[in-house]
Amino acid sequence: MTTSKSIIGFIGLGIMGKPMVRNLLKAGFTVVAYDRVRAPLEELALEGALLGNSPRNVAEQANIVILMLPDTPDVEVVVFGPDGVAEGIRPGSILVDMSSISPMTAAKIATELGKKDVGVLDAPVSGGDVGAIKGTLSIMVGGPEDVFNEILPIFQVLGKNIVLCGGHGAGQVTKLCNQVLVALQLEAMGEALVLGAKAGVDPAKIVQVLSGGLARCGVLENRGMRIVNRDFEPGFRVRLHYKDLNNAMAAAKAYDVPLPMAALVTEMFKRLKLSGKGELDHSAIVTFLEELADTEVKKHEA
Ligand code: NAD
Repeated sequence: MTTSKSIIGFIGLGIMGKPMVRNLLKAGFTVVAYDRVRAPLEELALEGALLGNSPRNVAEQANIVILMLPDTPDVEVVVFGPDGVAEGIRPGSILVDMSSISPMTAAKIATELGKKDVGVLDAPVSGGDVGAIKGTLSIMVGGPEDVFNEILPIFQVLGKNIVLCGGHGAGQVTKLCNQVLVALQLEAMGEALVLGAKAGVDPAKIVQVLSGGLARCGVLENRGMRIVNRDFEPGFRVRLHYKDLNNAMAAAKAYDVPLPMAALVTEMFKRLKLSGKGELDHSAIVTFLEELADTEVKKHEA
């Protein structure tokens, strides 16, 4: 059973990883942190984190290793690359990959590390930077139930809605479902706001009243007013959502599932990335629709 005596290695201290480490430290866990960027390491060291100097070094010190990295190739290099986790992790340890990556790669990692008697879970999250800070993430998990039960106390520090979705890769499949849904909601919200704004209605009023009706949703609640206030600070970056949509399209191909609208929205995200907007929040999809309509969604002056 995981206890506060467990030593957690944590690799990837970006928008999500850094606040997640903070919550683990506050809950009394010992955390050995690592990122290829120095700044978050120095910040977390001041708050009590121990520092590793490579993924291998982190894995040597910890009995649970958590990853929160951008993309599938990043996870592959951190786990299997030179000085990677696979070189340092001890039999009986557990690797929890909370990054959003390809379900096929998640299953491959589980198979490879299983040969070293390492338990593996894929456990991507939803809830964004706010959920990571507040410890209220939704966590969708794939892997064996006994390993899930062992890690549950850690998940309960990081999130609120924690579901074992199935075997290896099931967490990542569920995350792709989430990303398709969120992308289509963002696009639909963008179309609605562009229509309303160009027709002369204050988009702030549209967000306010639609938030209480059937159209209410997390996307409208979290991003509606940010769009109206022209705030595209991430949040969740365009380039990461584009990565998830590409993974969704690859899974759709593998499982022979037509995703007509997701395919279209993937192309919109591609255009955003090509036009230099990859680091903006994914709600910047509205700017693609604004360009088509030659208008801007902006709050009316009081
Ligand atoms: P981010 O880009 O802010 O952070 C990623 C961190 O990983 C960076 O600090 C980077 O330096 C580090 N990193 C990359 N490659 C590395 C390597 N080889 N070795 C060590 N460190 C390395 O990304 P994020 O927003 O924190 O997202 C992380 C994951 O969580 C992604 O898979 C993303 O899709 C997912 N996610 C993000 C959000 C969100 O709202 N930001 C929400 C849900 C899920």
